[in-house]
Amino acid sequence: VSGFDRMRMKRFNKGLAFTHEERQILGIQGLLPYVVRTLQEQVNHCRLLLNRLPNDLDKYMYLIGLSERHERLFYNLLSSDITHMMPLVYTPTVGLACQKFSLGFMKPKGLFITIKDKGHVYDVLKNWPEMDVRAIVVTDGERILGLGDLGVNGMGIPVGKLSLYTALAGIKPNQCLPITLDVGTNTESILEDPLYLGLRQKRATGDLYNDFVDEFMRACVRRFGQNCLIQFEDFANANAFRLLSLYRDKYCTFNDDIQGTASVAIAGMLASLKIKKTQLKDNVLLFLGAGEAALGIANLCVMAMQEEGLSEEQAKSRIWMVDSRGVIVRDRPKGGLTEHKLHFAQVSAPIDTLLEAVNKVRPNVLIGASAQGGAFTKEILEKMAEINEAPIIFALSNPTSKAECTAEEAYTHTGGRCIFASGSPFAPVTYNGRKFYPGQGNNSYIFPGVALGVLCAGMLTIPEEVFLLSAQTLASLVSKDDLEKGSLYPPLNSIMQCSMCIAESIVTYAYKNGLATVQPEPQNKLEFIKAQMYDLEYPSALPATYPV
Ligand code: NAP
Ligand code: MN
Repeated sequence: VSGFDRMRMKRFNKGLAFTHEERQILGIQGLLPYVVRTLQEQVNHCRLLLNRLPNDLDKYMYLIGLSERHERLFYNLLSSDITHMMPLVYTPTVGLACQKFSLGFMKPKGLFITIKDKGHVYDVLKNWPEMDVRAIVVTDGERILGLGDLGVNGMGIPVGKLSLYTALAGIKPNQCLPITLDVGTNTESILEDPLYLGLRQKRATGDLYNDFVDEFMRACVRRFGQNCLIQFEDFANANAFRLLSLYRDKYCTFNDDIQGTASVAIAGMLASLKIKKTQLKDNVLLFLGAGEAALGIANLCVMAMQEEGLSEEQAKSRIWMVDSRGVIVRDRPKGGLTEHKLHFAQVSAPIDTLLEAVNKVRPNVLIGASAQGGAFTKEILEKMAEINEAPIIFALSNPTSKAECTAEEAYTHTGGRCIFASGSPFAPVTYNGRKFYPGQGNNSYIFPGVALGVLCAGMLTIPEEVFLLSAQTLASLVSKDDLEKGSLYPPLNSIMQCSMCIAESIVTYAYKNGLATVQPEPQNKLEFIKAQMYDLEYPSALPATYPV
């Protein structure tokens, strides 16, 4: 790589950190002003620039631009202040960025594979310039956050998620590949948008769609190997469940909306039970929503309760779910019970509303994953506080506008007694002179660590226990101090440590259960993991020399 290329290529660029020696030897002396800056100085400078920008979307665009120009600086900037940077590269800002994707598009940051490429998916994968891809995040754009079918505008999601793979778990950026499968979109306003960049047609469905996704999976393995991790992200409900059950035993894959969400929610619950000094099995849970997130949580909850000694039937009897047609009960007159929902159908007379359900079921834990902003009304929250000394309220829907209630509403309407977590971040709330720091029940506590563990061990499939194990590991990292502040999760700025602990648990589990393909088994698992992680420091731009 020539010196000039080193300045232009995001991976090699050091900006003003090229030393005078490097500049002279590489032949780029004079192409930079005299000053040599440290990494830290450059990070500070980025902050200055960022703070001058008037809104979050502009900040997002600046950050994306930086990641294209100077990758290592971008990751240093993220890592230096995860709490404030994550909302800019991920939820909630990424939602906005997706909605404005056509407007903001400058440079591809991932692969677009369209249904018209069917039969040639492998050839398209070959066009990706990086050889050593280990992790793919793929979406078909049909259920982007709580925003619905955005078509290829959803590309922001795999891009954002993979930047968290690096920022939160040290997975090398060149090993990450964001992919959007463009099978069309059913959103009229997008089809009519003159700026839209995707295939202008209704979504492909049925065999055509299925064969396409199948070809994609096989092509990924052929191109990048059986141990290439494929994370499914923001697929619509029915496809998400079907593809997960189809591929989970054949490929190194998981669905973050179902399994990652489940893990982070269970982690929060396990942590909250430390305050309440009960076990999961002592609780009754009521879900608003019976989609990917809610059913994922419910299923993992059953597994966790079984580990606590309940039978599957006993566990299920403690879980109630409400979908758009009311409480899920057997023989519901309004119908609409898929196989996955039927699994959790209770034997009860029909119950139509969430409020009625709260009254009837008397839950200890109320979980929202319905993308219905404001669905946890004052009345519902008050009722939860009437039933429970310390009601557990999770408003998991993203982005912020879709949260079932705000942190402030949760604390206010429960007299400051609730244990609260949300999917998108909320600022601290002061109620009755006490300051609460609501935790963010966000998948980003889980999926980067899972990916790191799975990749380090070279696992070829990802069993469900991995997600329970991750939840338990994360919950064990929540300190007394966090809990006293009202937070069910460790601080966001410690998320890299969380990822490493989760990865360590998974690697240990993988070797113990014969699921690891990387041999020989490393003695010190944590050191083994660290050795494979992305180095945030600049390497020397000059080759090492030695006396001969
Ligand atoms: P999904 O599969 O489409 O499920 C949505 C569920 O909400 C469905 O069961 C739907 O009912 C139900 N619903 C819709 N309107 C309702 C209403 N008025 N009353 C009661 N239920 C209603 O979507 P998902 O993947 O589960 O995602 C749901 C939300 O969770 C999204 O906002 C997403 O951003 C969020 N999420 C958060 C995290 C996190 O990290 N915190 C992770 C994943 C997802 P029907 O089944 O009857 O249609
Ligand atoms: Mn998602």
